[in-house]
Amino acid sequence: MNYISTRGAGIGERHTFSDILLGGLAKDGGLYLPNEYPKVSADELARWRTLPYADLAFEILRKFSDDIPDEDLRELTRRTYTAQVYCNVRDEENAAQITPLKTLGVEGGAPLSLLELSNGPTLAFKDMAMQLLGNLFEYTLAKHGQTLNILGATSGDTGSAAEYAMRGKKGIRVFMLSPHKKMSAFQTAQMYSLQDPNIFNIAIEGVFDDCQDIVKAVSNDHAFKAQQKIGTVNSINWARVVAQVVYYFKGYFAATKSNDERVSFTVPSGNFGNVCAGHIARMMGLPVEKLVVATNENDVLDEFFRTGIYRVRKSSETYHTSSPSMDISKASNFERFVFDLLGRDPARVLQLFRDVEEKGGFDLQASGDFARVQEFGFVSGRSSHDDRVDTIRDVFEQYDTMIDTHTADGVKVAREHLQAGIPMIVLETAQPIKFGETIREALEREPERPAAFSGIEDLPQRFVVLANDAERVKAFVAERTR
Ligand SMILES: *Cc1c(COP(=O)(O)O)cnc(C)c1O
Repeated sequence: MNYISTRGAGIGERHTFSDILLGGLAKDGGLYLPNEYPKVSADELARWRTLPYADLAFEILRKFSDDIPDEDLRELTRRTYTAQVYCNVRDEENAAQITPLKTLGVEGGAPLSLLELSNGPTLAFKDMAMQLLGNLFEYTLAKHGQTLNILGATSGDTGSAAEYAMRGKKGIRVFMLSPHKKMSAFQTAQMYSLQDPNIFNIAIEGVFDDCQDIVKAVSNDHAFKAQQKIGTVNSINWARVVAQVVYYFKGYFAATKSNDERVSFTVPSGNFGNVCAGHIARMMGLPVEKLVVATNENDVLDEFFRTGIYRVRKSSETYHTSSPSMDISKASNFERFVFDLLGRDPARVLQLFRDVEEKGGFDLQASGDFARVQEFGFVSGRSSHDDRVDTIRDVFEQYDTMIDTHTADGVKVAREHLQAGIPMIVLETAQPIKFGETIREALEREPERPAAFSGIEDLPQRFVVLANDAERVKAFVAERTR
């Protein structure tokens, strides 16, 4: 398998899975994709139906990573997808499934269910891919005798998923910036209670945007970046996207009895990483009817799928909502889908994303390309804070199931796209305990807390406080990588 950039660089060159694993953007600013999607045969689909999660992951990943020997990949997936790692399940009996399907009921003739993706160590779906990434990074770095220093900024979810994936990994250090005293007590405890010597929590005297600006400033110092072997683990990382393809297959098998059936998925979306994996599963031949993109008030993606207009927002137009992991101004993985939508024409993708930089967006309505969105199964909807509160309450009353705010955005929008006879699977992207405030508002009770998390706020915390100053952060990193 060869990887190419959505903007054309590397066509005719050889880029393997391992080549692009540790990198970010392609050198022309595009995103990496395989030169063609591997197809799944009817025989394979039949054989995969009964596989345990780790072995299903192996079968799917090996189609994208032919430069990793099978025995190594099998070992990596078996070490990653265990009931011990994904132990925070609602129902003990389901732990071995890694991503259990929770049936809610039948609405409008459609079976409605939740695919539980947030049973990992940080209680959000990002663990599904990040845990694999930790093991893949360690494996690849050891093979080449290299080390990596991951620098990131977080307001919660991504940072903690990265830390829990990289803790104790050989050859890797994590420097994670977070805004001092701006995260919830639970999120702060989750990150700062890690005592591993390769994890550095840096509380910046500022807000999240300041943390992000520091990461940008450090990354723009190319000499420092090269010398200190600085890398990132953001959502455009290809391995993260492809690891997420696995649970679409798993969810399909759980919701159907035979491979003649079709299902739809609703995906609470921000950077388009999660639903991009659903698109790839569908391109591989998984019988998916609809891919429903659910957004919150930050509706860049909903606007596109309704109108064909992609219009990125300024930070002043980006709302802070009660489903904060979907508060985005532009969707960093969206370019991967646009590449496919335009029949894989890199020159046009380059032009469109130049328009994004220069004019703030583009319009595909007039060109006729937008009509093809339907062929790819995409539809969308948006949700508001009131919708979340209503949906959390309603799902709790009707189905005795507590859902988080992001999943609530998903259920709200899923209900607008039900088709009789076609199972609708909503991806559950986080557990309610992470967003307790809205749970209390909706249900007037405390969110459920998985046993492993009782009293984590009282554990000793390990972090440093630094001034909002990129030079200070650079000095801190340099001292620790000597
Ligand atoms: C990251 C995240 C999302 C958005 O996922 P994308 O891949 O960015 O679309 C949704 N819900 C939760 C809880 C998340 O952490």
